[in-house]
Amino acid sequence: MTNPLLSSFELPPFSAIRAEQVEPAVRELLDRNRAALQSMLNTDQPTWDAIVAPLETMQHRLARTWSPVSHLNGVMNSDELRAAYNACLPLLTAWHTELGQNERLYAAYESVLENEGATLAPAQRKLLENALRDFRLAGVALPADKKARFKSVMEQLASLQAKFDENVLDATNAWSHLVTQEHELKGLPPPIVARAKAAAAEKQETGWRFSLDAPNYQAVLLHAEYEPLRRLFYEAWSTRASDQGPAAGQWDNTALMEQILALRFELATLVGFANYAEYSLATKMAKSIGEVGGFLEQLAAVAKPVAQREFGELETIAGRTLNAWDVGFYGERLKQQRFDLSEEALRPYFPAPVVLKGMFAVAEKLYGVKIVARDRFEKYHEDVQFFDILNGDDSLRGSFFIDLYARAKKRGGAWMDECVGRMSMQSSRHLPVAYLVCNFMPPSKSANGSKPSLLTHSEVVTAFHEFGHGLHHMLTRIDYPSVAGINGVPWDAVELPSQFMENFAWREEVLPLISAHIDTGEPLPAAELKRLQGSRSFQSGMQTVRQLEFAMFDFRIHAEYRPEHGGRIAPILAEVREQVAVVKAPAFNRFPQSFSHIFSGGYAAGYYSYKWAEVLAADAFGAFEEHGIFNSSTAQKFLHSILEKGGSRDAMEAFIEFRGRKPKIEPLLKQMGLAA
Ligand SMILES: [Zn+2]
Repeated sequence: MTNPLLSSFELPPFSAIRAEQVEPAVRELLDRNRAALQSMLNTDQPTWDAIVAPLETMQHRLARTWSPVSHLNGVMNSDELRAAYNACLPLLTAWHTELGQNERLYAAYESVLENEGATLAPAQRKLLENALRDFRLAGVALPADKKARFKSVMEQLASLQAKFDENVLDATNAWSHLVTQEHELKGLPPPIVARAKAAAAEKQETGWRFSLDAPNYQAVLLHAEYEPLRRLFYEAWSTRASDQGPAAGQWDNTALMEQILALRFELATLVGFANYAEYSLATKMAKSIGEVGGFLEQLAAVAKPVAQREFGELETIAGRTLNAWDVGFYGERLKQQRFDLSEEALRPYFPAPVVLKGMFAVAEKLYGVKIVARDRFEKYHEDVQFFDILNGDDSLRGSFFIDLYARAKKRGGAWMDECVGRMSMQSSRHLPVAYLVCNFMPPSKSANGSKPSLLTHSEVVTAFHEFGHGLHHMLTRIDYPSVAGINGVPWDAVELPSQFMENFAWREEVLPLISAHIDTGEPLPAAELKRLQGSRSFQSGMQTVRQLEFAMFDFRIHAEYRPEHGGRIAPILAEVREQVAVVKAPAFNRFPQSFSHIFSGGYAAGYYSYKWAEVLAADAFGAFEEHGIFNSSTAQKFLHSILEKGGSRDAMEAFIEFRGRKPKIEPLLKQMGLAA
């Protein structure tokens, strides 16, 4: 029987994939790759066609096999799949490190650039330059023993980081809470209560059972009038995978964090950097530790006094000192008072199908494409939908899966991931396919039929954000996978298209497209929209200092790690909080233990990227505000200079080409209401 993961599929054959096929497929591909690489390197004339194109092709093939596995592990986790996934991580890491450390391959790339550089397209040259940089970052020039150590460090890191994520997922899944007294539910939105009621009924319990997923957690923190309930949820959430809270010690990430930091430090110093923050910046738009530090300090100086004032207002309306679990609740009260606006009350205007249709219409207007649902495709879960993006002449440009709703065994948060990357090299042609994943409240099913999922406006913004990443991946015109779409884009520029896209979800030109009341079909009334827009910069000082706390903490633990004193995780967090935070975190708070972005995701010494890219996004959107948000020449320029180019050109040059100058911070400060 052939292994479906090795068959020549375009879209993943989800229903045929079995956990036991994963490791054999990956091993088989890696064996084939190693053999092919050997014979490629025997050529005495290294050229683009003889070396680079075949290597891009084999990496693309490997990614197409691995992507559905890694995706299913994130959205349909099971013990078997997790074991298979984990078994492959060291194999894949070993392969990538071998490639990065292969001196013959390095020399071959150097001579391709030297011999053909003048005749190659700019995207091809950029690919070669990135590759040569990455060879150096992988220790290609190291002596054999250090190379071996580098490789082993990479493999250990891959496993430890995966373990970090598992602990967070397991700790989150393990906790739930049964409410038996109805008065404790006061203030909670009816759909959240109905969902908890159904969850309890499923277990033959009387009452309301709440899991710890994002919709429940946010609803309780923002709306539950019963303070002990808020505290309970806050404690469960902020102690996940730690030595504190209801499952103290059971999935504790504390030791893992130290190990991860130590290995990252070792990795960076092996290839000649003083610390991991420097190593991280070698592939980013920001040039130095000082530049990042200065940027964060500059924002802190503007935001901290505003945040203090905002926090003071909250304590005034609460009439008491506020705990961390009270801040969201009183924030919501103040927001209601000030703007006569409740996130929950707006849900009926945003049925998920309406939001998607309107969001697609925005992309259609901007970029002259068409987005159409494909009915026949292979699903891995009944919630999944599939869409094609067509060019003006109806030719296919790219496609995407969209998986909107929270469920058990699905990683929290929202993200875009690559299913297939665009490629046109030699005989290999592929159009890009993306996964867009969110964790919104599922549609409710009852005896009277089902009701679509109703989104809050902030969930609408999240959908626009991920769709922005998706467009970056799917609209690319670059044919070489390593620099197509989001590949090869510096991490601190990769949030530009996503945060840029968020802006549309706030505009009066767009709201009629994305809103239609579930009962009346009315779009969001103009007065509501005004209030909503007014609320956009609500508590932006507090939100900014919170992001700065994460960014400074992340950057400092990576910049300041030393073997003699370790990560100093808790003291650095305390110092950062002292510097920027306005909400006092309780002693049991262990937020780093579930900070997956930096301990298991790609944001290590890079969390600042969100703020960095927000500057780019707000400034880029400024061009649309100046010329009309659907102005087609502005949109075409953005498409051609930035979206289509992916990682095939320098991010700063691309920005300057679009905007006619370097980015400025002022549009962001203005957007957040922080401008002087
Ligand atoms: Zn993003």
